[in-house]
Amino acid sequence: MSLQIYINGTYYDKENAKISVYDHGLLYGDGVFEGMRAYSGKVFKLREHMDRLYESARTICLQIPISKSQLEDDVNATLQKNALTDAYIRLVVTRGAGSLGLDPNRTSDPQVIIIADHIALYPAEFYEKGLKIITASTIRNHPAALSPRIKSLNYLNNIMAKIEGLQAGCVEAVMLNHKGEVAECTGDNIFIIKRGILLTPPKDAGILEGITRNAILELAGKLNIPAHEQTMTRHDLLVADECFLTGSAAEVIPVVSIDSRTIGDGTVGPVTTRLIAEFKKMVHGIA
Ligand code: PMP
Repeated sequence: MSLQIYINGTYYDKENAKISVYDHGLLYGDGVFEGMRAYSGKVFKLREHMDRLYESARTICLQIPISKSQLEDDVNATLQKNALTDAYIRLVVTRGAGSLGLDPNRTSDPQVIIIADHIALYPAEFYEKGLKIITASTIRNHPAALSPRIKSLNYLNNIMAKIEGLQAGCVEAVMLNHKGEVAECTGDNIFIIKRGILLTPPKDAGILEGITRNAILELAGKLNIPAHEQTMTRHDLLVADECFLTGSAAEVIPVVSIDSRTIGDGTVGPVTTRLIAEFKKMVHGIA
């Protein structure tokens, strides 16, 4: 059976899952989304993803046509419909079809789309040996222009930095903010470990408040690993003992080189190794 895609409460075969070319999601990137993971049949931090989705929608004045709890049920139903227990779920809400002008008031029917599928973002080798990344020259969107707190369908800022990374032979790239401070990577948050302390940029560095990021901070608390949200510069990254990235798709992935400087001793460090192991337990409901 072909993959079943949910659009506004109806399931369609993947080949027939379509929305209008007049949809402002396509024409203008006008919409919001979430990327989630299900482990052993349970969506990890589903409520947190729902809260972020509805907050993103509220900020862009997009009324999601169904309630949070209905949407939660529909996410679970889409997993079941596709007989998936371990999966990646992409939830998209577009502004809907409208005129060819920008005016969101001339659109109707926001489209709610749920895709449940498998994802393998990076090869297994990267998780064992660590990533080599660069700092992109494209800065993260200025929060007063388009807040990175909104998980919107407009990802060109990140894609421009991703292209820089790929051109340098790297699958991820660090983005700085308009003040030159470390913000995040193109699709992941960033952490370092310095003298046993776990550090990550604060929300006001102009980042997406990652749900995996928050889970790692929660885990650090439980494991008595001192952790702080702290403004950092590229210098802090380059002199870190350890570094790793977090995201729903990437999970927790070590970084061993930034801008051709080896991080720590160039291997996956002990704190990162421990957090990766504990995170695995957490997502499977063991920790
Ligand atoms: N930053 C950006 C820009 C992202 O797109 C994402 C999600 N892919 C993240 C951080 C990580 O967020 P989360 O842990 O909620 O997936």
